[in-house]
Amino acid sequence: MKECYYTPIPEGEKHDQDSWLSVFEHCSGKAQSPINIDTYKVFYEPKLTPIKLEGYDLTGSPALTLINNGHTLQLSLPNSMRIMRGFDHVYVAAQLHFHWGTKEVPGSEHTIDHVHFPAEIHVVHYNSKYVDLIEAASKADGLAVLGGFIGIGLHDNDNYEKILSALTDISIEESDTEIPGFNVRHLLPDSLDRFYRYNGSLTTPPCFQTVSWTVFNDSIRVSRRQLAALEDTLKTEHNKLLSKNFRAPQLLHGRKVLASFQTESTTGKAREAPTPETQDYKITESSGHILAIIFGVLFAVTMLVFSMYTYLQQKKYSKLKKDSKQNVVYKPAAVEEGMDQTTVTVT
Ligand SMILES: [Zn+2]
Repeated sequence: MKECYYTPIPEGEKHDQDSWLSVFEHCSGKAQSPINIDTYKVFYEPKLTPIKLEGYDLTGSPALTLINNGHTLQLSLPNSMRIMRGFDHVYVAAQLHFHWGTKEVPGSEHTIDHVHFPAEIHVVHYNSKYVDLIEAASKADGLAVLGGFIGIGLHDNDNYEKILSALTDISIEESDTEIPGFNVRHLLPDSLDRFYRYNGSLTTPPCFQTVSWTVFNDSIRVSRRQLAALEDTLKTEHNKLLSKNFRAPQLLHGRKVLASFQTESTTGKAREAPTPETQDYKITESSGHILAIIFGVLFAVTMLVFSMYTYLQQKKYSKLKKDSKQNVVYKPAAVEEGMDQTTVTVT
């Protein structure tokens, strides 16, 4: 099944996404993924059917196969896991996998208002009217992928630990292991009601434009330690670290992104502020620039007020000095010291 997602790319070109375009014709299509989701440009669509999952609550047995395929960390899923509602057809789960970056570079594929999250989970499903993932992958209505953003929280995420604790067993490329089944629903955000929907593609060659994407608005949290395990454990070819396995956002080319909920573009309400745990990791270069400008302006205003105050104080002081020279024959030194102290205290 993984071959469907990861067609071998010539050596040396594996991480050169530009080279995909010349080798795989679909990768230069006009409905590619991932995308940036501009929350001011999405369309609120109240008729979007809420996602209803079935069979996600797996028991310990049978075990699930976890593989490091050299491109991602992938968990095979049983076909008893399905999306029952949300689309015109039932979609059957095949696998889930992750995209991540490094400690310095957040590695989600989709971005929200140009902000990357540290990582992203994709749960891949295929239309039940097709035999399997491979057959469905090239069909217009073939695939439905659920995407969730992974941020950093204060505590270990016990559900993610079921996968992450096995990473050291599969650090070598093309190795796999078995882990007990568990409730896969818990790898997704608590609320599945708030999501974005658009038509896109596989984010790796052959880039078939056959994916109905659902990107959840609410993120999932793992601890910093857990994210570091994802970023620093797996190896790819030549024993190189497997990281930054995300594709850059692609152009929309006129595609509409629907939202199942109202955003500021439709209500004028401010977007929910990021929590302190995730805020640091959600700052992009552009928002960094904006912050720099804001602090710069604040600093300039402070300096201006300070200068004006100092000027007025000096004016007042010189006037008093002038007056005192005119009216008082003897002026105690304490007066001037007191005035200096006042100036220092107020400033
Ligand atoms: Zn993916």
